[in-house]
Amino acid sequence: MGKISILPDNLCNQIAAGEVVERPAAVVKELVENSIDARSRKISVILLQGGRKEIRVVDNGVGMSSDDALLALERHATSKIKTLEDLQSVESLGFRGEALPSIAAVSRFELLTKESEALSGVCIRVDGGILKDVREAGCPSGTMITVRDLFHNIPARRKFLRSVDTEMAHISDQFLRLSMAHPEIHFQLSHQGRLQYDFPSADNILDRAGQVFGTELAGKLMPFSMEAPRVNLHGLAGQPELQRANSRFLFIYVNGRPVWDRLLNRTVLSAYDTLMPKGRFPLVVLYLGLPPAEVDVNVHPTKREIRLRSPGDVLEAVRSTVRQTMERSGPQGGPGSFHHRMTARDGRFRFPVPGARESQVSIEDAFRGSPFQRASSPPAQLAAFPNALDCPEIHATDGADAEKAAGDGPSFSRLSVLGQLANTYILLESPDGLVLIDQHAAHERILFDRLSSSSPGEAGSQRLAQSLVLNLFPREAAMLRRHLEHLSRIGFEIEPFGGDSFMIHAVPTVLNFPAPDVIIREMLEAALEEEKSPRWDLLSSLAKTASCHSALRAGQKLQPEEIRSLLEQLDRTRAPVTCPHGRPLACKLTHSEIARLFKRT
Ligand code: ADP
Ligand code: MG
Repeated sequence: MGKISILPDNLCNQIAAGEVVERPAAVVKELVENSIDARSRKISVILLQGGRKEIRVVDNGVGMSSDDALLALERHATSKIKTLEDLQSVESLGFRGEALPSIAAVSRFELLTKESEALSGVCIRVDGGILKDVREAGCPSGTMITVRDLFHNIPARRKFLRSVDTEMAHISDQFLRLSMAHPEIHFQLSHQGRLQYDFPSADNILDRAGQVFGTELAGKLMPFSMEAPRVNLHGLAGQPELQRANSRFLFIYVNGRPVWDRLLNRTVLSAYDTLMPKGRFPLVVLYLGLPPAEVDVNVHPTKREIRLRSPGDVLEAVRSTVRQTMERSGPQGGPGSFHHRMTARDGRFRFPVPGARESQVSIEDAFRGSPFQRASSPPAQLAAFPNALDCPEIHATDGADAEKAAGDGPSFSRLSVLGQLANTYILLESPDGLVLIDQHAAHERILFDRLSSSSPGEAGSQRLAQSLVLNLFPREAAMLRRHLEHLSRIGFEIEPFGGDSFMIHAVPTVLNFPAPDVIIREMLEAALEEEKSPRWDLLSSLAKTASCHSALRAGQKLQPEEIRSLLEQLDRTRAPVTCPHGRPLACKLTHSEIARLFKRT
C-alpha cells in the first residue's frame, strides 16, 4: 500500500483553520470582510464571552441563494475570482474561498441568508465541519452568520484562547480597523448584550475618525491627499503631540484592505523623524490606492501582509506627503500646545535644546514647575565615596555593571558644584577629575526608585480635587484591570466605572500629576508594548513611564539649592549611575584624561 493519501476535506479545513482562524478576532475579521464584499450598508457584530462562546455577524448585503450558500461552505468556493488573471486584479477583500469552510470546521456554525429578490432564505447548520441541517427559513435580506463554541472539537486550540478581556481587545482592534476602512458603512459591535461601538454611516473619514477615536483626538488629525499616475493616497496624520507608546495607532490600508506591512509602517514613521523621540509612535490613518497588479495580496493566509511590486516610488510618495502635512501645519499652524515648544528654522521643526532627550511635548507642557522639590526626603544616609564612578574613561556605564557597582554608591552631594552646563548637565569637581550629571536622567532615577521600592502606603497618595474619568480602549482597559491592585500599592486610587471606563481618585504624592489621565493612558500603552518582553515587570514599567514624564527636563535652569537637593536624593537611590532606562546619568573626566586632552602627558 502507498504511503501517500489525499486528506479528507474536513481535515483540510481544520488544518486551514489553523492558519485563517487563530482566535475569535480572526473570525470577526473574515466574517466582516465578507459582509463588506457583499456591499452591506450596515454590519453588526454581536459577541458573547469575548467571542469564545458566540460570534454573530449580521449584514444587509446581497445575501446568497441556497445553492450558493451550500457551495460557500465548500473548500475553495468563492464568487470573487474565477481565473488566475482575476487574482492579479482582485479588488474584493476575500478571494481564497477558505474562510467559511475553515470556520465551520472548528465551531458550531449557522448561516442564515436571503437574497433581496428571493421569497425566502435558507438556514444551514454545520457542526465541526459536518453538515447537520439545511432548511428554508424566513429572514430579512442579507446574511447572518453565527459561530458558537470556537475550537470545541480541537481542545489543543481551545486551550490557547485567552481571557475574555484579551480576546475582546483583539476583536476591537480588528473591528476599529475595518470600521475606519469604510466610513460609509454603519458598524456596530456589542458584547454581552451591551452596545460597545456604534458608528453610523459617516460622510468622510474625518467624521468616522471622530467616532472611532473620539472628537477631541480627531481634532488633532490633519487630512492629506496626493495623486500621481500610479499611486494615490489620502488619510489623516496626527500632530506630533498625539504620540503614542506603540504602533497600534497606525491604520494603513492598501486598496481598502487593512494591512500590517513593515515597510509601510517604517515609512510612515520616517515621516515623523525628528518630530518625535525614538520609541514613540504617531497616529496615522493612510489609504493607499494602487493599480491592483502592483500589489500582491496573496502572500499570507489572512491577507494582512502584502507585497508591493515596486515599493520605492510608493514609499517615497507616502513619506513626503505625510511629512509635508506636518511641516505645513507650521509653528502657528494647527491647534495644540506642542508648537510653541519648538522652533521653526528653515521650515523644519527642531527641538530647542540640543541633546534634549525628552519631547513628550504636550505632556511636558503639563508639567511646568519643578516637581522634584516635592519629593520629600527620608533622613540622609550618605554612603562612602567613590567607586561606581571609577571608570577609566568617559563612557556610558553599562546598566548591569552599574547596578552591581552601586551597592555602596557614590556620594555626589559631597562634591563641590561647579555649575550647570547648557542647563542640562550639572558639573561637579571630584578629587580626581570632573563629574558630569545629566539632570533629567538623575531625577528620573530618583522618582523611579521612590515609586518602585515603596511598600504599601509608603509612596503616599494624594487625592485629586476632582476625580477624573478615564475612558480606555479595551486592550488598555484589560491591562489596567489586571493591575489595579499593583497600582494601588504605589499610591494610585482607581476605580472601575463601567465598561472600559475608570475613575481616578488619587495619585502617588511623589509625582506631580497635573494630567493624571494622560499619564495613566501613556503608562498603559508603554506597558502593553513592553509586556511582550520576558523580563517585563509592571511596577517598574509604570514607574519608568511616570517618572520619565514628571522628571526635571533638560534645558531647565536649576537654583543652587535645587542642585543640592537633587544630589542628596541621588545619593540615596539604589543605582545612582544609570537612569531607569539604563542610560548613564553621570560620567567622569579624570585629571589624567584632561591632561591628555591638553597634550600635557
Ligand atoms: P472568500 O471571501 O475568499 O470568497 P469565504 O469562504 O470567506 O471566501 O466566502 C465564500 C463565499 O461565500 C464568498 O465568495 C461569497 O460569495 C459568499 N459569502 C460569504 N459571506 C457572505 C455574506 N456575508 N454575504 C454574501 N455572500 C457571502
Ligand atoms: Mg471571505
